[in-house]
Formats: sequence, C-alpha cells, structure tokens
Amino acid sequence: MHSVAVVTVSDRCAREGKQDESSPAVLGVIGEQGKEVGGGQAPWKVVCKWLVPDERECIRAALWRACGRRADARTEQHLRECGDCWRQWNEVVEDVDTEPARLVLTVGGTGLAARDITPEVVLEVCDGRQAWGIAHLAMNISLRHTPLAAASRMVAGIAGGSTLIFTLPGSPRVARQILPELLPVLAHASDTLRGTSSHA
Ligand SMILES: [Zn+2]
Repeated sequence: MHSVAVVTVSDRCAREGKQDESSPAVLGVIGEQGKEVGGGQAPWKVVCKWLVPDERECIRAALWRACGRRADARTEQHLRECGDCWRQWNEVVEDVDTEPARLVLTVGGTGLAARDITPEVVLEVCDGRQAWGIAHLAMNISLRHTPLAAASRMVAGIAGGSTLIFTLPGSPRVARQILPELLPVLAHASDTLRGTSSHA
C-alpha cells in the first residue's frame, strides 16, 4: 500500500470557483490502477488532498503537510495569514502525522506563464534533489501524444529523504495519458525510498 497526496494548484479553482476536474481525473486513474493491480485492494491510499492557488507559500504549506512535516516558522506565519491553508492543514483525509504520503502528486502550475511556479516550489521543498529519470519518462510518454508537451515543466524530486514528489500538468487529459504508465514506476521508486529510509 502506497500513501499518496494530491495537491491541486489552480488560481481559477481555488479563487474563482471553477470546478476542479484535474484531481478527480488523477484519483480516477489511481483507483482504476488499484483495481487492476491490487485485485480489489487499491495499492494507493489517498491520505491528503489540497486545493491551493498558484501562490508560493500555499503550495509550500500543502507540500509540507503532505510530507508529514511540522510547521516551521515560515509555515506558521502563512497559516496565520491564509484561512484556506489553515483549514486544509487541519482537515486531512488520514493522519499524515503518523503516515506521511510516500508520493505527492501536484496537479497544475507546470506551464510557461509567470504564475506557473509549482516546479520551483517543489524543487525548493526537495532542496534541489531531483529524480531526473521519472520526469524524463513522463515527458517521453506525453510527447507520444503531442509535441506541445515540450512546453510542460514536469519535475520529480525527493523531499525529506523519503517522499517522492511529481508535478503533473493541470490537464485531466494529460493526467490520464501519463499516469497509467508512470504509476508503477512511482510505486517502485516509493518502495526504494522506503527501504532506504528504514536503514537510515
Ligand atoms: Zn495559503
């Protein structure tokens, strides 16, 4: 069983009330794969779901919570100022304090526009520790469908030594294209990290 957190990053969904269609697509693929691979028992358990705008501190707070980290001074300051993050910090699907997500999927904010900052925040939380091959694989899968995928800035990184973070683009269609092939690799990487961390 792999614990997974889904962090949707979207100004329009978080601030303008647009319906979030991306995270249901991601959760759908996770559920479908669970049926195929787990024979009734999903190998992925969603422990945390967040919806945040394209704001550095909001994305950072969501990632910290998903990774089971305690709020540092910077996060505490943000939680005092941001009611939505405060609410989500205290409303989690499962207790991420006892079981941090092994995998965090961010959805959105990977484009080229000025407000697309998800990859930068992920790399900051991961202290620059990237998993190049995973991002490379995701780009390969995506490019099979359209050369426009080249404009997506997908990254993968490792936070706190044991949590894998991958940045999906915000399109539900792209999530459905990439995830079925990528998830088994993410599961393997998550197992590897878990094994490594138990010997640390
Ligand atoms: Zn916030």
